[in-house]
Parts: sequence; structure tokens; C-alpha cells
Amino acid sequence: MPELACPFQCVFCDQHRISGMEDVPEAHKVIHLIERNLSTFPDGPKTVEIAFFGGNFTGLPGNLQLIYLEIAQKFLIKGLVQGIRISTRPDYIDLEKLQLLRNYGVTTIELGAQSLDAEVLRMSGRGHGPEAVERASKLILQYGFRLGLQMMIGLPHDTFEKSYETAKRIIELGAHETRIYPCLVIKGTALEQMYLRGDYRVLTLEQAVDWSLRLWQLFAEAGVKVIRLGLHPSEGLNGDDLVAGPYHPSFKELVMTALWRDMFEKHSVWPKSDSVIIEVPANELGVAVGHKASNRNWLKKSYREVVFRGKYGQEPQSFLIKPNN
Ligand code: SF4
Repeated sequence: MPELACPFQCVFCDQHRISGMEDVPEAHKVIHLIERNLSTFPDGPKTVEIAFFGGNFTGLPGNLQLIYLEIAQKFLIKGLVQGIRISTRPDYIDLEKLQLLRNYGVTTIELGAQSLDAEVLRMSGRGHGPEAVERASKLILQYGFRLGLQMMIGLPHDTFEKSYETAKRIIELGAHETRIYPCLVIKGTALEQMYLRGDYRVLTLEQAVDWSLRLWQLFAEAGVKVIRLGLHPSEGLNGDDLVAGPYHPSFKELVMTALWRDMFEKHSVWPKSDSVIIEVPANELGVAVGHKASNRNWLKKSYREVVFRGKYGQEPQSFLIKPNN
């Protein structure tokens, strides 16, 4: 969804570019998009959701919300999808809006919380304070929806401590899931002007990876699922739009690589051998070896040979090390 519904102008936002969507999608295009995507899934059990992202769904004109919800609900009733999710602003949630979403079978509501620090929100031009996020989160949970609270790191006046406090508050508010986006400077935004004037400093990629890793660990401990780390290349951001900031097409891979490096560093008992086999969960083999094999290369400073093996059934983020002889 484009920014259509949003009367605010957060300093970092050029929603047309972020969503990759210039116009309000017409009903037949939405149906076509859903059908085309559904046709790409293999047969067999699966969980599929229709998601309306980008703009503020509950701020769209009522008739447009109804058109989109009716489309999604038909797919839900036929059992072709198992859920509907929307994203919106915290101050665009009230009982009437929640009732409508519930009537049409919406299952998950994501709020762009960004930060729960009053100064960061003010300096970012969000147009609401932390209390709006707190109020909306409580209502969403009371109405029985799944709650997602998205956060952004490195906003104007943000610090690691403030981001950490935001993550703690997201956990306390009962979010089921979160997304962590490093703040980027995008062409045409107010943040670009601030950056060019020298009033805003971007996080380095290393900082963004380090902050995200520590937040990811906090969320993991609390059982809050991090469903996105960094902007996906398909989210419409191309090289020309990006002025500055910690963008990397494999940002999640960098953070997960850092997580595995952290686990290796903290592991105290290593075999006395010059060659080791490290068994890791099969689906984490790539990040255990590391982006561009960085973890293997680091371990090879201590071992002549390091063999990684993916193992089915191995607990997530756990590993076994054996001497290779
Ligand atoms: S509320 Fe959302 S859509 Fe509106 S300006 Fe901010 S980020 Fe962009």
C-alpha cells in the first residue's frame, strides 16, 4: 500500500519508495496478485497469510478498507489462506476499527512502533508518543488479535540503550512478534536534509548488526519472534534511493552470522585436535559457517581444518563439536 492514508511525514519515510507501490492497488489487481502468489506454493499443508503492508491500513478511506478486507476474507473462507494481517499506525487504532477488522477475519495487526522513547519519536516526526503504542497494543490484545510491534534502530537521538529499552517494552506489552529495521536515509525525505546538514548521523553497518544481534537475543529469550531483520531487497529500495545508512541485501544473514560467532566465542570446551567437526542444525548451516564463510575463517585461526555438518533434528542455535580423527 502506498502512503495515501497517512497525513504525517516521519522524517525517514518516503512510503512510495519503501512499499514499491505508487498507486492504490485496484481490486482486480489485488485479486490477481493473491492468485498468482498462491499458485506458486507447492501442494500439501502450509500456512499462508494475506498481508496489507506499507501504508496505514486503518487510515485508508473506509470504502477502500472494505474492498480489500472483502477480497481477503473470501480467500480465508475458502481455506486458501489461513490468516490476514495488516500494518498500521498506533494512533489509528480504536474499538470501531478493531471491530471491523475482526468481522473480516483479520488475525494479526502490526504497529509501526519504531521507538518507545518520547524524544526519539518526537525527533522522528512520528506525531505520537509512546502512550499511543501502549494504548493500541492493549486494545489489540484485548480483541484477541496477534500483535506485532515493529521497531527501528538508529533514529534521530536514538542510542543503543534507548533501543534496548524499546525492545524490553515491546516484550512487556505482550507482542507476539517484531521486526527490526535499521534506519536508512532515503532520497527526498526530511532525514536526507538532516543528514546533509550534519544534524543526523547514520549507524554504521557494524553498529546496526551489533545492535540487532543484542536485540534479537533479548527477544529470543522472551519468546518474541523476530520475523524480519532489515529491509528486504524486494521492498522497493534500490541503489539510487539510498543516500546513506546500514543497508545490506543480506542483513539478516549478517546478524545471524554474528549470533553464531558469539556462540562460538562463548563456548569454553573445544577439542584438543587440529581438525574439528561442528554439527549444527541443517537449516542454520549457512549462517553457522557465516556470511562469506567468516565464522569458518575465524575458527581456522585455531584449527587447521574445520568441517561443518548440517544435522536434522539438532536444536535451533545449538551445536556439537567433535575432534575429526
Ligand atoms: S506513519 Fe508510516 S506511512 Fe506515515 S509517514 Fe510515517 S512511516 Fe510513512
